[in-house]
Amino acid sequence: MSSDAPTRFATRQVQAAYVTGQAQNTAVPPLYQSSAYEFDSLADARDLFALRTTGNIYSRNASPTQQLFEERVAALEGGISAVGVASGQAAVAVTLLALAGPGGHIVAANQLYGGSVDLLQETFADFGITTTFVDQDDLDAWRAAVRPETRVFFAESVANPIAQVLDVRAVADAAHEAGVPLVIDSTVTTPYLERPGEHGADFVVHSATKYLCGHGTSLGGVAVDIGTFDFGRDPEKWPQFTTPYARFGDLVLWERFGAGQAFAALVKSKYVHDLGPSLSPFNAHQILVGMETLDLRVARQSASAQRIAEHLSTHPAVAAVHHPGLAGNRWHALAERYLPQGAPAVFSIDLVSTGDSEDDFRRAERVVEALRVIRLVANIGDARSLVAHPASMTHSHLSPAQLTAAGISWTTLRLSIGIEDVDDLVDDLDRALALA
Ligand SMILES: *Cc1c(COP(=O)(O)O)cnc(C)c1O
Repeated sequence: MSSDAPTRFATRQVQAAYVTGQAQNTAVPPLYQSSAYEFDSLADARDLFALRTTGNIYSRNASPTQQLFEERVAALEGGISAVGVASGQAAVAVTLLALAGPGGHIVAANQLYGGSVDLLQETFADFGITTTFVDQDDLDAWRAAVRPETRVFFAESVANPIAQVLDVRAVADAAHEAGVPLVIDSTVTTPYLERPGEHGADFVVHSATKYLCGHGTSLGGVAVDIGTFDFGRDPEKWPQFTTPYARFGDLVLWERFGAGQAFAALVKSKYVHDLGPSLSPFNAHQILVGMETLDLRVARQSASAQRIAEHLSTHPAVAAVHHPGLAGNRWHALAERYLPQGAPAVFSIDLVSTGDSEDDFRRAERVVEALRVIRLVANIGDARSLVAHPASMTHSHLSPAQLTAAGISWTTLRLSIGIEDVDDLVDDLDRALALA
């Protein structure tokens, strides 16, 4: 049975959307590893294919394990529906394709994840979807970038490696003044630390590969529709929702599915269907199991990261700690407003620099190689603590000017704090920093 009791976050992350008493009566949601589904009759198949009824057809579109993952993430974000896909990169791509439409324009933060920058500035541009990048802290820049063909604003709740905290409410207001939705990539915050929909965001995307999965085993992504954006208010601007959907005859998505559902219907029936970035049932299952401990992991990781940031802020080998939980941090007031449960466990430090990039690289190298508990891995949100050197790894394609604008130097090290004993992490850093 499913419980109809009103529940809180930690209960939802373990129970939301799973109805027991079906199939083999398993207490834990089963992994349905099937590529396709049998129809009751040809008439049933015909209705499903025409979108007159909803149900399982083929796992490129969705699997039952994926649907449970989608409903559970929607429940945690306070959204109406969600679309699970193969990776965070795919979630960003299909969301922005569906909203921007052909020839659309995007206004995006220039603090975005590198893969998102590549997607917007190269691949989307190749196909006629253009982007203006703005400093996310500059509200006038967001407003000034709007053009008649602008269709979406896009930013991250907390960026990395420098952990800039976005004023989601202010950017959402600017998007709505321009008549477009705000999409927030909330990968780093997770629905436990922040729910952007409560601050005016209309869509929330995640790389589920990171904290939702939490154990570094599986790629996945998800896009949540909060249900707040009204595509019917200015129908000419949104023909993908308000005019007949060619492949389904005279079906109009906004009339058939409405607020909170039309976006998922478009993304699944067009972008995931045509481009194929489907979430495997196995990965959906891995992520579902990981999500059951989301709040436990993130609460510990955030508390450990805060303690480590405080410790490193007085360390003689460390020139700067970029953690918004520290009182002197530029985004500290925003962190207090948006992140009452704690700041994310992804943050950066700058080692003391000699001003020479080769010397600085060697210094970063000595520290990274001396770490024994914290591992050199290009990932975040794992149960294990990870370190990366952005200038030579994740941000190596940036020009020196872009690196400076992003706040990254050759002595910057990014940390993603895991669930290990925090004293072991502090000892590991102290031992390594002594060699800096
Ligand atoms: C990792 C990441 C992505 C991309 O997700 P993948 O699952 O690696 O495709 C997007 N946004 C942010 C903030 C990320 O950290």
